[in-house]
Amino acid sequence: MRFFRILTACAALALPLGHADVRGCLCDSARPETMRPQECSLCRLADAQPPGEAEFFLVHDNSPNKPNRWLAMPRSHGVNPQELSGMTAEQHSTLWTVAIRKAGELWGNDWGLAVNNLMNRTQCHLHIHIGKLGPGAENNRFVAVDTAAEIPLPRNGDGIWVHPVGAKLHVHWGEDKPELLLQR
Ligand SMILES: [Zn+2]
Ligand SMILES: [Zn+2]
Repeated sequence: MRFFRILTACAALALPLGHADVRGCLCDSARPETMRPQECSLCRLADAQPPGEAEFFLVHDNSPNKPNRWLAMPRSHGVNPQELSGMTAEQHSTLWTVAIRKAGELWGNDWGLAVNNLMNRTQCHLHIHIGKLGPGAENNRFVAVDTAAEIPLPRNGDGIWVHPVGAKLHVHWGEDKPELLLQR
């Protein structure tokens, strides 16, 4: 069960607003001089987690304009930029499970999880946004699955967002920046 032992951290992330593109990010823990840019701040946060067995961790986004936002992310870095597709199936499933559990604690059945596409990410390090789903987000671009393990990878170049409907999970596509569907 070690994958389910989660670290929780709070940090002032000060994620910048607006359009960004991390496709050329260079964050490399082995070379500290590459870790200074803002787009590496979640990579730095991952490295700052205390040693232990937890493979994933949760962070409250202390950005003043996102008071209700949490993030779930891996401690390890992938290739730059880090993508869901770079994880093993077990890691992928566990990361979504961690995010879903936290989302349910925070928002009951009213949560949404979102991963923006690469052109709309401000951080090199992979992260799932956790928030309360805003009104009017539902549409017909989704697949319904039963478990986190069945959540598919985002389509190439697309964002992905997930929310619960009854006993199912809707996995939606077709949004570049689905975090905007979550209340700030
Ligand atoms: Zn990283
Ligand atoms: Zn839906």
